Formats: sequence, structure tokens, C-alpha cells
Amino acid sequence: MTETETQTQTQTETDADADGGTDTDTALDTTIYYDDDADREYIDDKTVAVLGYGSQGHAHAQNLADSGIDVIVGLYEGSSSRDAARADGLRVETPATAADEADIVSVLVPDTVQPDVFEKIQDGLDAGDTLQFAHGFNIHYNQIQPPADVDVTMVAPKAPGHLVRRNYEAGEGTPGLVAVYQNTTGTARKEAVAYAHAIGCTRAGAIETTFREETETDLFGEQAVLCGGATALVKQGYETLVDAGYSPEMAYFECLNELKLIVDLMYEGGLSEMWNSVSDTAEYGGLTRGNQVIDESVREEMESILEGVQDGSFAREWISENQANRPSYTQLKAAEEAHEIEAVGEPLRDLFAWSDSGGANEENEVVSEPEAAADD
Ligand code: NDP
Ligand code: MG
Repeated sequence: MTETETQTQTQTETDADADGGTDTDTALDTTIYYDDDADREYIDDKTVAVLGYGSQGHAHAQNLADSGIDVIVGLYEGSSSRDAARADGLRVETPATAADEADIVSVLVPDTVQPDVFEKIQDGLDAGDTLQFAHGFNIHYNQIQPPADVDVTMVAPKAPGHLVRRNYEAGEGTPGLVAVYQNTTGTARKEAVAYAHAIGCTRAGAIETTFREETETDLFGEQAVLCGGATALVKQGYETLVDAGYSPEMAYFECLNELKLIVDLMYEGGLSEMWNSVSDTAEYGGLTRGNQVIDESVREEMESILEGVQDGSFAREWISENQANRPSYTQLKAAEEAHEIEAVGEPLRDLFAWSDSGGANEENEVVSEPEAAADD
């Protein structure tokens, strides 16, 4: 575990089209699988062990079961999720027993505990079984070394589990990713696409990728743009306004609340729809000032973040952080929760009915007591 090497993906195949995908976008060289590309014979008679019954686990397990597939949920004795899985009508065993009985083992416990869980289940993997993931971290960074005689695949919905489940129940799909890392049977990809079908992903489209690409783009995106970049931008904007004497409530709405409205427009119709929907003044101001904020130096930092992802140094850092019981994580999380914008936002969200978490209902007092509101 001390020397994390970056995988080179030598075992990954690139013959996606030969295996039945629809090459829908030759310009981008992307293969996307839809319902018609899936052959359910590759999964219908199999038993799937779903390890973990959290965000992804509960959705995969229930969607597979509703698709008529034999599912066993694998949870340790005493797991708080056992009751939930049983209440949903699923059979629950220990991870070792579930994996032993299954042909496909879907590893849907948190990434940080997957190597430990793998130790417990590896004896139950028979030749020709499949070890399946929803994120490539542990395979890509060598934290799990699967036996050579099993298939190793990924089916990763690009949404939190509750949406994967809700969409499936509504007859709709959730876009996802499919990747094959190790194909000993020769049918790994067909089985992965069939699994994607059974959880509803091919209704929307499942994009062919590799463990390396999924892992590196996922880590880069969440660090530089989505989770890290976006929150840092919000906090800097908020602090700039408040330090200049504007009201915290105004700063909150301007820099945090309205971000969702802008992102929704980009999500629906790309950057152009967003620019077309805002005023000409906002458009001119944004077009002339955006690159002043996110400038070349930010781009250089992004490249350095990507390097840390590619050379495995971020992975090593996060693995040792976990081995040491998360000292920095705990401190940073507490500092983030204590940021003034959190105390300002909580009562504001409760005041406005359009907020998902707020509104005047029985669970939310119309005005709740912010913990640190007395700061100013
Ligand atoms: P969760 O944190 O929601 O998983 C929690 C579940 O794992 C609970 O049932 C928990 O049981 C169980 N669990 C925890 N430790 C163990 C253990 N040692 N042995 C067995 N079960 C255990 O995970 P996610 O669904 O968020 O993530 C699962 C995988 O899916 C990860 O690889 C993640 O990267 C990937 N993924 C996640 C997405 C998301 O939106 N969440 C999106 C796409 C991929 P208990 O209740 O007892 O703690
Ligand atoms: Mg088995």
C-alpha cells in the first residue's frame, strides 16, 4: 500500500465496436450503448452479489431484482443497512457468503473500505466470475489486485443512487459508464452492458470508457471544477462582497443561491443557452471579466492537480490520510462547516419554499436557529 503505482491499463481492450456497441459519434470516437445493444442473456441467469446498501448499493440491488435478476446483498453482521435491505424484500448475507454464491460481485461499499472488503471476499471468486465496480480508484491505483481468472468491469451510473432508483421506477434511464479492465471470459463487456441494461442505464445511454479515464477524470473534475473549484469560487465571491460591507444575505444569494440557476441553464442547453438567457449586461460583464478571475495561473494550478491525479500522488495522500484516521480531512471538514456562509444560508433556505431543503413544512421550522449566526 505504500507505493501506489499508476496503472497503465495494458489489459484494457479497445475493441468496443467489435463487441456490439453503437458508434454513435465518430467525431468524438465515443461508443454509447443503448437498450438495443444489450443482450440480457449475459446476465439473466446469473446471481449478483451487491456489497453495500448505501447510495449506489440500494439502487443497483433493487433495480436488478425488479429486472428479474437473483440478487444477494452483502453486508457485515451488525451493519445498520441490513434492516433496510430486508425491508425492501432482499436476501442479506455477509459479503463473503454473498460473493461465494454469486457470479457477479458488485462492489458498492465506500471506496476507502473496498480493499478490506475485498480481502474478505476474494476466496469466493471462482474462475469466470466478475468483480464489478462503480468507480475505478482501487483497481486503477492497485489497492485491489484481482485474481487473473476473473473478469473485472465497471458499470457506473453518473448520478447519486436515489436518482438511479427513482428514474428506474419511473421507466426512465440514468446515463452511465461501462468499462472493462480484465476480460478472461471474452464476454466481460457483453455482461457489463447487460448489467447496465438491468439497472436502467442503457435507457439513457452508457458510454464506453476505461478504468484509467474514469478514475482520472472523476478525481480531476471533483477537485478542480465541481466540489473544490465551485465551493472555492463561491466562498471567495461571498467574502469579497461581505468584506466590502454588503449584507451577508445579499452575498449569499448572489454567490451561492443563484449559481444553481446558472448551472441549470448550462445543463439544459450548454454555455450558449445560459448566455442567451441572462441580460446583455450580464453577458458582456461575464465575457470580459470571467477570464480575469479564472486566469492562466488557475489553469496552471489545474494542470498541477491533474498531474497529482495521474502520477498517483493524490491517491497516496488520500490512502495515508485514511490510514492515519483522517486528521486533515476532519479538520478541513469542520472549518468548512464553520464558514459564515453556512450560518447565513441555513435560515434563508428555510424561509423560501423553492428550496428543496426548506419550505414551511412539518420537518422545517420556518425560521430555524443558525448555530453561529451571532458571529457578526
Ligand atoms: P455509500 O457510502 O453510500 O455505501 C455505504 C454502504 O456500504 C452502507 O450499506 C454501509 O453499511 C456499507 N458498508 C460500509 N462499510 C462496509 C463494510 N466494511 N462491509 C460491507 N459493507 C459496508 O457508498 P456509495 O454508494 O456512495 O459508493 C459506492 C461506490 O459507488 C463507490 O465506489 C463510489 O465511488 C461509487 N459511486 C458513487 C456514486 C454516488 O453518487 N454516491 C456515484 C457513482 C459511483 P452501514 O450502513 O452498516 O455503514
Ligand atoms: Mg462466486
